[in-house]
Amino acid sequence: MKFNEYYKTGELKAAGEVLEINDCTSRGSGRQIKFDDHKFCVECIMGVKYRKSGVWNYYNKNGTIFLTGSYVILDNIGVPSVKDGIWTSFRDNGTPLQLSVFKEGKIIETSIFDENNIMLDFDGEEFAGDIIRLQLK
Ligand SMILES: [Zn+2]
Repeated sequence: MKFNEYYKTGELKAAGEVLEINDCTSRGSGRQIKFDDHKFCVECIMGVKYRKSGVWNYYNKNGTIFLTGSYVILDNIGVPSVKDGIWTSFRDNGTPLQLSVFKEGKIIETSIFDENNIMLDFDGEEFAGDIIRLQLK
């Protein structure tokens, strides 16, 4: 279901999807949870909790996006919601600042862009084309 977070002063801070899951403390299959088919067990004492899942956008108080990317939920102990795929942060003027590629919470690649939208630091040939195309949309 959709979920919003707000600044104390009322402006939208973040928007995305959350998934209801049983907050079992002993889960450990390691797979990604896309739909919670976990049956209640003796460890499910915490009840239902919500975890971020899918694309989330984070906003400045003026409504512009400063960070966007996707989360996946892992069926590990604590059932963490972690970054997965491409995460992009933006300067106040809307130009990209940093672009990072995550795989189930682990950072794979990071790129920094200068004020002229030139990639300053990147060490992955394979990803470069896709990332630049995504960035210039
Ligand atoms: Zn359980």
